[in-house]
Amino acid sequence: MDTKDFIDLEDLYGAHNYLPLDVVIARGKGVWVWDVEGKKYLDCLSAYSAVNHGHCHPRLVKVLKDQGEKLTLISRAFRNDQWPLLAKELCELTGYEMVLPMNSGTEAIETAIKAARKWAYQKKGVPQDQAEIIACSNNFHGRTVTIISFSTETLYRKDFGPFTPGFVIVPYGDAEALEAAIKPNTAAFLVEPFQAEAGIIMPPEGYLKKAKEICERNNVLFVADEIQTGLGRTGKLFACEYEEVKPDILVIGKSLAGGCYAISAVLSPREILGLFKPREHGTTFGANPLACALAREALRVLTEEKLVENSAELGNYFLEKLKTLKSKHIKEIKGKGLLIGIELKQEAGGARRFCEDLKEEGLLCKETHEHVIRFAPPLIIKRDDLDWAFEKVNQVFQKAEKY
Ligand SMILES: *Cc1c(COP(=O)(O)O)cnc(C)c1O
Repeated sequence: MDTKDFIDLEDLYGAHNYLPLDVVIARGKGVWVWDVEGKKYLDCLSAYSAVNHGHCHPRLVKVLKDQGEKLTLISRAFRNDQWPLLAKELCELTGYEMVLPMNSGTEAIETAIKAARKWAYQKKGVPQDQAEIIACSNNFHGRTVTIISFSTETLYRKDFGPFTPGFVIVPYGDAEALEAAIKPNTAAFLVEPFQAEAGIIMPPEGYLKKAKEICERNNVLFVADEIQTGLGRTGKLFACEYEEVKPDILVIGKSLAGGCYAISAVLSPREILGLFKPREHGTTFGANPLACALAREALRVLTEEKLVENSAELGNYFLEKLKTLKSKHIKEIKGKGLLIGIELKQEAGGARRFCEDLKEEGLLCKETHEHVIRFAPPLIIKRDDLDWAFEKVNQVFQKAEKY
């Protein structure tokens, strides 16, 4: 079977809820992947930052095999010997007292919403069913009906209503608007420290710090969605650290198990997650020993291979290099760590065609919203690989000067 055969099969039988580039990947190693024809590409998306450790990291593959032969799932009807250790290690790494494990990022956000509402009723004294959560314009927190209830993206919502009430939207980056939106019934403020899906949008400096102060002053929980920005992607362990903010609830996912398994988590002080009682919330695959063993090793790799430091250093290196690109199509180049976006001007005709051209040159990038090319390679990437990538990016922009 060749590329076209796979694409035809997928398009015939698979629902078309994505618009993938027409490349069929069969194998990966580190920052590189190979398609079914044997062509090699540099992965500049890292599965939306889930593969921060690179593809098939040898230490993770070993755990996948070893734990795979021991025990994969027992459910939380019983206990297992991996979850307690992951819970401890994760709390020690992040400085939180408690953690609730889920599978996808979306589920972890749902859990954070439940936790914030529960806290509002039991601790803050909000009347039953009256709690409100404030979210931001252009947010991305997942795809369930409740989460898209507070999306501002028409495409994510159309034909999916009716929606869940209890959410209020304020403009992202506007601390005064947040303060004005707070009411006695406000339970939480849910925010991404940088909005990756919205097109690598970074709020004005001081915004997160100010928002946290406003939340504290008003007895409102500050909930950070660090599913994509967390665990080193932006050059800090968590992006909130750029403003020395410690969220009341921290949500992580994506690369928690190094892209080898889906696991997400909600972290908080005991007074919040401690409110959950048996049978009130759960998931069959939550805290399964395979995911936990992988996450434990992924966290060790993160520390021992200095992925956070590498992200900061090489992210900065690549950002500065990209800023030397000369092109009539580029509006702005922005980012922190290895989460970088090239924003194109409206007249450039969208980022998609640039991504198509980059693919031809051996770089797998994905347009983010319409006009941003995102560069988010695995955090293990080396300077040489980035130099190689830069040459290719440069070539594509040189060529594009003509049209
Ligand atoms: C990816 C992502 C999610 C959703 O995670 P899934 O694992 O796809 O459910 C939520 N918030 C942010 C910021 C994300 O990047």
